[in-house]
Amino acid sequence: MAEAYYRKTPQQALEAQKAAPAGLSGEEVRRRTGQYGPNKLSEGKQKSVSQIFFEQFKDLLVVILLIAAVISALSENVESTIVIFAVLVLNAILGTAQYVKAEKSLESLKAMSAPSAKVLRGGVRLEIPSADVVPGDIVLLEAGDMVVADGRILENFSLKVNESSLTGESEGVDKTAEAITAEQVALGDQKNMVFSGSLVTYGRATVLVTATGMETELGKIAALMNQTQQRKTPLQESLDKFSAKLATVIMIICAAVFLLSIFRTGMGVLDSLMFAVALAVAAIPEALSSIVTIVLAMGTQKMARQNAIIKDLKAVESLGSVSVICSDKTGTLTQNKMTPQKVYADGSLLEGDDLNLVNDVQRLLLKAALLASDATNNQQTGASIGDPTEVALVQLGEKFGVDEEAYRAQHPRLGELAFDSDRKLMSTLHDIDGVPTLFTKGAIDVLLQRSNYLLTREGPVEMTPERREAISRINMELSMEGLRVLSFGYKELPGFRPPALSDEDGFTFIGLISMIDPPRPEAIQAVSDAREGGIRTIMITGDHKVTASAIAKQLGIFREGDEAVSGVELDNMTDADLDQRLAGISVYARVSPEHKIRIVNAWQRRGSIVSMTGDGVNDAPALKKADIGVAMGITGTEVSKDAASMILADDNFATIVKAVVNGRSVYANIKNAIQFLLSGNAAGIFCVLYASLLALPVPFQPVHLLFINLLTDSLPAIAIGMEPARKGLLRQKPRDPKEPILNKSLLSRIGAQGLLIAVVTMIAFYLGYQESAALASTMAFATLTLARLFHGFNCRGDESVFRLKLSTNLYSILAFCAGVVLLLAVLFIPGLKSLFLVAASFRPANLGEIVLLAFLPTLVIQLVKVLCDLRRGK
Ligand code: ATP
Repeated sequence: MAEAYYRKTPQQALEAQKAAPAGLSGEEVRRRTGQYGPNKLSEGKQKSVSQIFFEQFKDLLVVILLIAAVISALSENVESTIVIFAVLVLNAILGTAQYVKAEKSLESLKAMSAPSAKVLRGGVRLEIPSADVVPGDIVLLEAGDMVVADGRILENFSLKVNESSLTGESEGVDKTAEAITAEQVALGDQKNMVFSGSLVTYGRATVLVTATGMETELGKIAALMNQTQQRKTPLQESLDKFSAKLATVIMIICAAVFLLSIFRTGMGVLDSLMFAVALAVAAIPEALSSIVTIVLAMGTQKMARQNAIIKDLKAVESLGSVSVICSDKTGTLTQNKMTPQKVYADGSLLEGDDLNLVNDVQRLLLKAALLASDATNNQQTGASIGDPTEVALVQLGEKFGVDEEAYRAQHPRLGELAFDSDRKLMSTLHDIDGVPTLFTKGAIDVLLQRSNYLLTREGPVEMTPERREAISRINMELSMEGLRVLSFGYKELPGFRPPALSDEDGFTFIGLISMIDPPRPEAIQAVSDAREGGIRTIMITGDHKVTASAIAKQLGIFREGDEAVSGVELDNMTDADLDQRLAGISVYARVSPEHKIRIVNAWQRRGSIVSMTGDGVNDAPALKKADIGVAMGITGTEVSKDAASMILADDNFATIVKAVVNGRSVYANIKNAIQFLLSGNAAGIFCVLYASLLALPVPFQPVHLLFINLLTDSLPAIAIGMEPARKGLLRQKPRDPKEPILNKSLLSRIGAQGLLIAVVTMIAFYLGYQESAALASTMAFATLTLARLFHGFNCRGDESVFRLKLSTNLYSILAFCAGVVLLLAVLFIPGLKSLFLVAASFRPANLGEIVLLAFLPTLVIQLVKVLCDLRRGK
């Protein structure tokens, strides 16, 4: 079928399409033809589950464990060998399950941010997920869209595309509307084609899809490269590096301990080796990297539930250190529900309701408003469709019983110059009583400058500086109330021909229509929350400076002593000027997307981590440049969504602030989980080192340490990762992105807490040692395990559990209980007892000492936290 469509000329293809049954879904087309897969690129070679499983064994630790297993077998400790192998396999299974789960969650996030496409099927216009596009579909493209399949252009309205994903060339490419002959098509001529992965930067077009998915040119390249995505975040990378460094240091210490045991204490080679192996197993944080991945994945899922779709895991980390949020006004900080307010025409300022259509000027104002817009209002349902600014105009017409459709049918649109944020104007050409008339609406500062006449009930009069001044004053008055003011003009063209941009000059000014777009109530709270958290909110808008400042004041963004700067003023500032004034500017008005890059750069020069919102095509570079590019899920173009690292499913500013809190919470949880895992490991290291230096028997067997590191420690670590975000998080200052996660204070806490646990473990060891080396080891193992389980509660946060409350993280209680059950099973179930080398002389009565000792470090740590809580005055 693809071939058949591909070979048809556009006209033939259109006919064939029209003949197709109406409203066929992509699924149905695929099912009927049995020919096409979903329109998606397969992401390189997907790893099979077995591949992922075997990759879990490519690790330094595994090599050490295998050595341990061999040594155990050599020393006729077959049980240990079996346990080590069993743990290795179990660990690999867990690792594989985590990997697959993380993949799945990334997949589901990707599906949420997948582009959609507008298609014509059987003459019906539909918006469908891009994965459902099939060859033979007619796709409607407009500025801001991403081309989702390869296709031939059927109709072209000045289409310009950026094909950099295919060619690497970032210059826009003009597409021609030339008709293509059947011969050219047969020869595979690529003129008039658009390719999947390109971005529409200008104009519109209708395209017949000829290839989808891996059949597209982009698909062919992807298949050639077959690359798998690099998914590690900076945090994961730095932790991997830390683990590798730690492993090397441990190997060196192990070698030293081994030699020391042989030469100083005269231990046998095998026993000395067991010491070295125990030390290595105790020290290497096996679960660390997978726990970080799990916590990150859980964090992104939580954010998605709260309408912030994270496209890039790295964004979760950066979010925690965001210090400046630059936000668009319309729709993000405000509701984007425009309602018409006051109107100015023929020298009088009236309430919209008082418009008098008997007055020629006022009647023409409404006519221009309805003809030069695309919004419509469904009479039956009352629902309006279109740009909210234009919807307000249609609503104004409605108040007077004027049906926009009837007006438009009476004066069909003969040509148009579409609205763009740079020009801030939109014009349409109509036949008004045989005269080709261009109606233009747009920003008053642009239109008023280009008006030579002013329409009055006596007819057009010259636009004198005084008249211009009077209109500007009215605009000021309206803008100061936070109203958006749209101005209207007309111009008679010499003949019926397509209008050009140069025609947008020499207007006759008709009047003004103002509209209100109230701030989102939740945005006011979010701005204040952000400020409390040391995060600065900056408004960036295409709207008028006075309107923007008024709204910014209502939102709490613009405060006493702040500055509002317009795009023109920004152009006149040098980078040095901007740097100097930057901290005082909280509103940028009448800016174009290009200005956003300058603003991001300036804040980044100050060392801030900047989040920038954007919805248009031209916003993409600024979104890429920002540390967190934020696109709008509802109103944003596909291009902006593609460039962003986070998408707001609800276009709401408050969601950004929520995401920042979540980013901080995820980072804090990861840090706490690391503290928990490493302090437990430190305790193990201290014990083994102490025993080796004092020539005591080895306190733990590798199986003990594996049991703790991989089972009983993993559960509380995950529970710590699920700690809910606390209110206090927003009161802290943003995290310094340059500060390493393992900073001095964290390392010293790890050392001190590790030492505390090691002390009680060695006391338990000595208690058992009075009877036998075997009981000493069992006592030490049980105490270390339980002390680390208790320690899970200490690592939930900086505050004491009395402040945090046990009930706020039920997972931590479950993890503790599960760990205790596992420990009891190992200590008392006969089969497991022998596997874990539990001393025959171990009795339930010993449990009392173990519980008491294991609880001691937590008691001390909690007391210290209570004192700190009191000092902080909470
Ligand atoms: P944001 O705050 O998100 O930047 P904005 O709506 O204020 O959005 P633009 O959409 O770029 O910014 O609009 C800039 C100006 O262009 C508006 O202040 C208004 O004067 C004018 N304008 C907006 N929409 C239209 C439209 N549909 N037709 C003509 N002029 C428009």
